Amino acid sequence: QPILRLQDVSKVYPNGTAAVQEANLEVGEGELISFVGPSGCGKSTIFRMAAGLSAPTAGKIEVLGTTPEEARRSNGISFVFQEATLMPWSSVRDNVALPLKLRQAPRKVQDEEAERALELVGLQDYAKALPRQLSGGMRMRVSIARALIANPRILLMDEPFGALDEITRQTLQEELLSIWRRNPGMTVLFVTHNAFEAVYLSNRILVMTPRPGRISREIAVDVPYPRG
Ligand code: ADP
Ligand code: ADP
Repeated sequence: QPILRLQDVSKVYPNGTAAVQEANLEVGEGELISFVGPSGCGKSTIFRMAAGLSAPTAGKIEVLGTTPEEARRSNGISFVFQEATLMPWSSVRDNVALPLKLRQAPRKVQDEEAERALELVGLQDYAKALPRQLSGGMRMRVSIARALIANPRILLMDEPFGALDEITRQTLQEELLSIWRRNPGMTVLFVTHNAFEAVYLSNRILVMTPRPGRISREIAVDVPYPRG
């Protein structure tokens, strides 16, 4: 039973751009999937549709047995954007706690869970810092912690490693692998331009080609990482 399914999904933007054409995809629980392809091949569009942030013009998307919007509302699916969008005047901890605040969780729960999520990404010492006091890589980790705080079953990340220097990139890759391995039920889909990253970090690579954006090939990768 797939937890994410795209059936003949197409997206034509109002200006006529055919961003995605007849995409078909079934994702099983616990997969770690990468999307590769040149700029403009529809990777972000697929992610936005899967997260319920943009509607397909044709076809059907099912997430966790429901609609993408409903899955996002119930925190079943979380989306980490390419640029870490944090509230500049709020502490790192409050930024991370935002999804729980929106659900009106008690303050104490918000703080405890935020500290736990910050630990997952190695930022437990920065709870009281402001976003501008952190490097780009650290801000990306804060965004990931914010996505993880609600224990989503599906995590979507649009080029999470793109803007980072080599060392930070490697650290964050190892952190992602380690989080994924410790949570066997967690499914991760991410976008990358980097073929090495795709091979190293995923069990399945979806190759997209532009004009129109299509999932044109799929590559299975042996994952040597034990989980649990
Ligand atoms: P990728 O993430 O692979 O770079 P995108 O999904 O961002 O690709 O874009 C796919 C195509 O759709 C591109 O040609 C892009 O310019 C276009 N596009 C993306 N968003 C919009 C939009 N909101 N309105 C019109 N065209 C868009
Ligand atoms: P919807 O699925 O509800 O139509 P969109 O994904 O089209 O939502 O909305 C994204 C916003 O980005 C739109 O308001 C659009 O005006 C804007 N946009 C327009 N052209 C582009 C482009 N080439 N790349 C990215 N965003 C664009």
